[in-house]
Amino acid sequence: MVSLSNHEGGRDRDLVPRGAQPCNRCPGLQSSAPMPPHQNVAVIGAGVIGTCIAAKLIDDGHGVTLIDPLEPGRATSYGNAGGIAATGVVPLSMPGTIRKVPGWLADPLGPLTIRWSYLPKLAPWLWRFWRAGTPEKVEAQADALAALLKRTYLDWDPLWKAAGLDGLVRRDGCLSLYETKADYEADAEGWRLRRDRGIRCEVIDRHEIRQLEPNVAPLFEMAVNLPEWSWVLDPHRIVTGVADYAGGRGLRSWRGKAVAARFGANGVEAIITDTGVVPCDAVVVAAGAWSHDAAHWFGSKVPLETERGYHMTLPKAGIEVRHTLNLGGWVMTPMQMGLRLAGTVELAGLHAPPNWRRAEILVERAKRILPGLDATDATPWMGHRPSLPDSLPVISGSPHHKNVFFAFGASHLGLTEGATTGALIADLVSGRTPGIDMTPYRIDRF
Ligand SMILES: Cc1cc2nc3c(=O)[nH]c(=O)nc-3n(C[C@H](O)[C@H](O)[C@H](O)COP(=O)(O)OP(=O)(O)OC[C@H]3O[C@@H](n4cnc5c(N)ncnc54)[C@H](O)[C@@H]3O)c2cc1C
Repeated sequence: MVSLSNHEGGRDRDLVPRGAQPCNRCPGLQSSAPMPPHQNVAVIGAGVIGTCIAAKLIDDGHGVTLIDPLEPGRATSYGNAGGIAATGVVPLSMPGTIRKVPGWLADPLGPLTIRWSYLPKLAPWLWRFWRAGTPEKVEAQADALAALLKRTYLDWDPLWKAAGLDGLVRRDGCLSLYETKADYEADAEGWRLRRDRGIRCEVIDRHEIRQLEPNVAPLFEMAVNLPEWSWVLDPHRIVTGVADYAGGRGLRSWRGKAVAARFGANGVEAIITDTGVVPCDAVVVAAGAWSHDAAHWFGSKVPLETERGYHMTLPKAGIEVRHTLNLGGWVMTPMQMGLRLAGTVELAGLHAPPNWRRAEILVERAKRILPGLDATDATPWMGHRPSLPDSLPVISGSPHHKNVFFAFGASHLGLTEGATTGALIADLVSGRTPGIDMTPYRIDRF
């Protein structure tokens, strides 16, 4: 039995690694030999990624403790746009992206802003981001995203069903709206990348937009309908629902911040938190944008940044929207609690206070598109997307320590990739070979 008392004594001398132990699940940090269930896998981070991992590990028969100072889903996974973006194979850094940046930065209503005081810290990440945007790399990254995303519904559907969450899923697609044909053509490469990977992209005209979304102002010459996109009516309830499901099957929760790992003869044997020690025989680091510290404990350095994003939820919007509407850099999603306007990117690190003007701007822009929109009692929110410069997540075993795994960096797609990340990490932890090539998601790829 694993004890989870808050009063266990830590052995400080063991808080540093006793030398690297090569992972026996290589090559590609992919498992190949089935392993007996672990007594206690410590999952650090109870966002959508960590919670889905916990649920899939429990399904595999492992004991699991989910460690977080917060309730499940209270950080970035709380307020996202709810998109199940199975169509999202386009990396963020594309040939030509960097040329658009000055225009975006100059536009106070633009999709990107940088806190200039943060630039020195950000520069190495930006450099890698820019270098990730060559045509060859973009094709490879799009393939790697497509390999993950084509499993989206295969992995989510059974979990939604088991957790009683299918009623929160809407499968009505997403319309990407364009005011001019030139705007659409500026995105042509992204649409080609999607079509080349078998994603249905239906171009529709002004008349069809009107039929599908009668309340949208007649500003848009054309749109692309993505029928394979769906959305959830409350992203936070998705996480709490999965946590409740796993809790009913034996998941243990530990409220505390992980601050160190303790190693023994067989590798990691405990996670030290600010509220006590959690003994474990395996660890998964799934702490979102805060994962770099824990990666360090296990000898891995990652160029993890946060792309901060904002939402404004309008409980009394008073206007029906039938699809997710993508306006390029931000979206509108009809949810249970109101119409959510969400998106944009602010590069300002983990510690700077929110700039609520970024959220207010979303309302100003939405009022132009939905005349008569009521913003009474609108609530703002800011979250920290965890992002690697190549737009791919880390889903990986440790190259240094057996029984240590990493799952973070899902960037704009964490909700979408939650169940698949859970299934892939469960494969690795359980010693099964995952159904896809895991090389692109290795932690040591940088
Ligand atoms: C505005 C916006 C819109 C978005 N829209 C979408 C969308 O439509 N579709 C989509 O798929 N994705 C979307 N995303 C992205 C998505 O929300 C994220 O990728 C996802 O929430 C990341 O989940 P996570 O579990 O990795 O991180 P988080 O949800 O941030 O969870 C990480 C958890 O780790 C905990 N933690 C941190 N450090 C420690 C520690 N030392 N010890 C213990 N616990 C720790 C934190 O408290 C937190 O609870 C959006 C994001 C934003 C900001």
